[in-house]
Amino acid sequence: MTDQTRETTPPLPAGATIGILGGGQLGRMLSVAAARLGYRCHVYEPGARPPAGDVSAALTTASYDDTAALRAFAQAVDVITYEFENIPTAALDLLEAERPIRPGRKALATSQDRLTEKRFLRELGLSTAPFAAVDDAGDLDRALDEIGAPAILKTRRFGYDGKGQARITRPEDAAQALAALNGAPAVLEGFVDFTHEISVIGARGADGQISCYDPGENLHRDGILHTTTVPARLSAAQRTDAVLIAARILNALDYTGVMGVELFVTPQGLIVNEIAPRVHNSGHWTQQGCAVDQFEQHIRAIAGLPLGDGQRYADVTMENLIGDDVARLPALCGEPATAVHLYGKADPRPGRKMGHVNRIQPARR
Ligand code: ATP
Ligand code: MG
Repeated sequence: MTDQTRETTPPLPAGATIGILGGGQLGRMLSVAAARLGYRCHVYEPGARPPAGDVSAALTTASYDDTAALRAFAQAVDVITYEFENIPTAALDLLEAERPIRPGRKALATSQDRLTEKRFLRELGLSTAPFAAVDDAGDLDRALDEIGAPAILKTRRFGYDGKGQARITRPEDAAQALAALNGAPAVLEGFVDFTHEISVIGARGADGQISCYDPGENLHRDGILHTTTVPARLSAAQRTDAVLIAARILNALDYTGVMGVELFVTPQGLIVNEIAPRVHNSGHWTQQGCAVDQFEQHIRAIAGLPLGDGQRYADVTMENLIGDDVARLPALCGEPATAVHLYGKADPRPGRKMGHVNRIQPARR
């Protein structure tokens, strides 16, 4: 079923069921937000005991090539959304024949492949790092001649938390970088000399209304997001630029839902790093900084409800709890002005996102 008629479609009624592909922490927080608005969620996840399963009305445990399970899931829900972008195309085709998928296929097709995504951003007139497609050693040599070192070789698909990336400091590192990616189709990106990294969490409603949250400033540790702080260090002009960039992307994709747009701040202006067609780790601060957080905003958008107030009412620093960080729970619970969010994961493996905290202060204006 295509989603052509959405402008005229009434909002999802109370008690309707939202299908969520993926059962991780993002699905968990979406499901809680949906419940607050009177909806039920049905989670589809191949892995056992998914974090979203504990807080959802229904859970299907099946792989993305199980056509019978996919069809039954689609028929049991009213609309389908997702918490990660790497859903196989065949599964999407099958699901879309049964129920609307929001955000739509264009956003998924664009963001599943770094090369497609970069070309799309350039066609919109936005700045990206210089890039070139790399399928073999010959391509990499040519790309390095054109772009120069330092550079980063990234897999076109399935990268997250800095995985599937190899840095090339000197041209001599090329062979090793190519080997590290195991022959996967890749993109070489010129290294951007940024002063800091920010992201904009933007939302677009079914009627085309747009609401963007204040940009957050992101710090990474070992390739994983460590903290997001609002307000970010930005001039008024940079802040406006960042929001306009996000709005431009949302409109170009005829998007419905919440999207994360990661940007590098440079003296020459803002450079788009990547987009994520879903709620985003760097938007978790909205849970304590705003009246309507990114999870509720996403549910409102895909349910055809008006978007909520995206204004920021507090200064917030979000800190991810990775692996053993979660052992600090008693101390974190004792901190003033701190909200703790845990994902219900039993095993605190190194590098695993176990939860996050939001530390708040009254907003400085
Ligand atoms: P995540 O899941 O955290 O978003 P990812 O695996 O999708 O990560 P990217 O966002 O592309 O990967 O890169 C991770 C980090 O590596 C960036 O946030 C940035 O710090 C650094 N980085 C990526 N590309 C570049 C670049 N071209 N120049 C400089 N730094 C970069
Ligand atoms: Mg990223």
